[in-house]
Amino acid sequence: MPVQNRLDWMSRTVASEAPASSSIIEQRRFATPDESPRSDPDDALACIRQEIREEYAEPHGKPWIVGFSGGKDSTLVAHLVVEHLVSLPRSERTRAVHVVANDTLVESPLVMEHVRIGLAEIEKAAQAFDLPVVVATTTPEPNQTFWVNLIGRGYPSPNRSFRWCTDRMKIQPTSNYVREQANISGEVVLLLGVRRNESATRAGVAARYDNGSRLNRHNDLQGCLVFRPILELDTDDVWEFLAENKPPWGGSHDRLIQLYRDAGGGECPVVTSTADAPSCSTTSSRFGCWTCTVVEKDKSLAGFVDSGFDQFMPLLEFRDWLVEIRNDPARRLARRRNGRVTITRKGVFVSGPFNMATRREILDRLLALQARSEMVLIAQSEIERIRELWVEDVIVSAERNAEAQRAMATGGAYCRTAMSYSFEVKQVEGWSA
Ligand code: SF4
Repeated sequence: MPVQNRLDWMSRTVASEAPASSSIIEQRRFATPDESPRSDPDDALACIRQEIREEYAEPHGKPWIVGFSGGKDSTLVAHLVVEHLVSLPRSERTRAVHVVANDTLVESPLVMEHVRIGLAEIEKAAQAFDLPVVVATTTPEPNQTFWVNLIGRGYPSPNRSFRWCTDRMKIQPTSNYVREQANISGEVVLLLGVRRNESATRAGVAARYDNGSRLNRHNDLQGCLVFRPILELDTDDVWEFLAENKPPWGGSHDRLIQLYRDAGGGECPVVTSTADAPSCSTTSSRFGCWTCTVVEKDKSLAGFVDSGFDQFMPLLEFRDWLVEIRNDPARRLARRRNGRVTITRKGVFVSGPFNMATRREILDRLLALQARSEMVLIAQSEIERIRELWVEDVIVSAERNAEAQRAMATGGAYCRTAMSYSFEVKQVEGWSA
């Protein structure tokens, strides 16, 4: 690409990640936290390739697991890893490489489509080149999906003080996959597309793993070593590389670049620990769950709608409605599902889950939206689990009422019985299940 064209392209691509008024040269400086001039990107890439080469050649069989979110950083890591495998003679492709994506089942539809296509392309290339590559997609446990918890158990839409979704929908599914592989092989190496200068949060998370070695033990996952090959790379280097190099699995990175242009922003990376979790649903994140109510204003779909994908407008409105009803006391039960009433240490009453009428209304509206949009927004298996939970809640609630009535009939015993299961003073402000 001619230099001027490349600079024009980069100035469009990174516009949302740097001050709007800065020139491209200033933007490149902005991308470096310590304001020092950037090192030569070709040198940096050569070093990264060397590290990948050396690490893969280590004399052991620990499989690699590449966390693949479909975003620019994890795509670059997958690109470099697959490229290295292709360059090796068959006899030296000794270690399995798993390319693993996570689908929360409420992902932004365009992003998930992009991930599915990417994984299929990688799998096809692996077969064609006889590469030891396994592609996989992890999903939440059927009992822990977004809709099962929101509509089935009535958990209020997640917010900053009660973000029940990330662990259930992202951390656990990927962690389980890593654990399974570690159990089979003894140890695994997890490759993450983390970059220090992506944000201050990422820099903080990255610093926790700094031990001066190439591999670091994962803080939470036993038998998991973390390898961050592109840690020190600049954002501009990543874009430049992806624009100028065709992926080793064929095609180009144009679809990814277009996706960022349409979404107009950052990504929601693969997360395997709560330390990574702040990056899920940050204010700059545009790739994430379309249902995300943790951010004030949704950006995961808004960018696509602004780019002309009008079909996502009803999804945006639905998500806004979930935010709106969250704190309406008329839609919430007084007691939590375990029968307790929560009062904070400051004496503030905290509502329980959504009441049954609201859960029913959410499901009805969601099914109507699904029919209108012709997109699969909720699976039949989720609807069945939701109905089971409703039946359980109704039975438990009826038993609780019967018990209270029996206790009332025996006078003073009522107070003792009621006190034993009804009240809990909590320190936290948020509601918990
Ligand atoms: S993107 Fe939002 S809804 Fe999805 S897991 Fe992260 S915080 Fe939860």
